[in-house]
Amino acid sequence: MYNRDAMHVPFVDLKAQYASLKSELDEAILKVVSETAFVSGKYAMAFEKSFAEYIGAGHCVAVANGTDAIEIALQAIGIGPYDEVIVPANTFFATAEAVSNVGAVPVFVDCEPDFYNIDPAKIEEKITARTRAIIPVHLYGLSAEMDAVITIARKHGLKVLEDCAQAHGATYKGQTVGTFGDAASFSFYPGKNLGAYGDAGAIVTNSGEVAEQCRLIANHGQAAKYCHTLTGRNSRMDGIQAAVLSVKLSCLDSWLDSRQRNAALYKELLADTGIPLPTAPDGLGHTYHLYVIRVKDRETVAAKLNESGVDTGLHYPTALPFLEVYSGESHKPSDFPVAHSQMGELLSLPMYAELTEEMIGHVCEVLKSAVTRGTAA
Ligand SMILES: *Cc1c(COP(=O)(O)O)cnc(C)c1O
Repeated sequence: MYNRDAMHVPFVDLKAQYASLKSELDEAILKVVSETAFVSGKYAMAFEKSFAEYIGAGHCVAVANGTDAIEIALQAIGIGPYDEVIVPANTFFATAEAVSNVGAVPVFVDCEPDFYNIDPAKIEEKITARTRAIIPVHLYGLSAEMDAVITIARKHGLKVLEDCAQAHGATYKGQTVGTFGDAASFSFYPGKNLGAYGDAGAIVTNSGEVAEQCRLIANHGQAAKYCHTLTGRNSRMDGIQAAVLSVKLSCLDSWLDSRQRNAALYKELLADTGIPLPTAPDGLGHTYHLYVIRVKDRETVAAKLNESGVDTGLHYPTALPFLEVYSGESHKPSDFPVAHSQMGELLSLPMYAELTEEMIGHVCEVLKSAVTRGTAA
């Protein structure tokens, strides 16, 4: 029986997913331990092969996390000190942080208002003689406008690194994201659409040369054992993470289907509220890593949801140009009008494969009563 007062809808529910795969996952983890295949090794290689196949890319290099994947890929495509790299204003901090960590400078571009991704119409005005690359982020599970991004990159001779941390399996005009640029980075942080049981990440690319360079950088610059040809770093995937990911990869498509089904139900139940809901342009397959709506008076709406047992998230409360770390650059709201006007209105609702119709019904009922006082953005 539906008991409104007792209902709890967590923001994510990794326990429910574990319960659905417990025996396979337990067995996979024990196998790694009993074989002591802890770092890189055969399980990482097996995952690299199946993930490259899944994405439809020539190569996959498994690394320690998604932030390292961006840094290593940037270095491998030749980005370094004093280069400028175009980054969307609305993304997780790691996208820009990785640019700074290779010595380059992140240059922010506003997002477009309906789909939240980098606005291609605002990229060219930010290109200078030092610009070397663009990082389109496929935010919330929706592909960026890749035709426009690639056209601009070709015209100006720029590299493209796709940040796919939120978009495993998303498609742009039928082609899987991660196959458009010079390289692409993925995160397998536990809460991502494909999540490990700890930190993990990967780079995919169609270039054998870029893949080789990534492998070298991620493993102390060793071409062979103790044969160091450059100063790299230690960023390898754990065997346990690789084994977990291999089990979960076979479920990814069905989880994405469930996310899409859940999004369709949200859309149906919230249709007449006037709340801006996530949508995708024609031909783009949204994978709903996050289900982000916009409401005025967000804190009140979020509090009302939380009181009724619905957990919510914020992605992201401060657009990157307005973070304290970039305060020295003195960005003005009018420099990023869309990101700035939306950052106080974005609210993420629970979204994962295991959500039930009853849970979504509860979220929508509470949300509707919270926004009837004219708070839809
Ligand atoms: C999660 C995330 C990252 C970083 O991945 P980690 O594995 O947490 O290091 C980078 N970019 C975006 C857009 C992300 O969402």
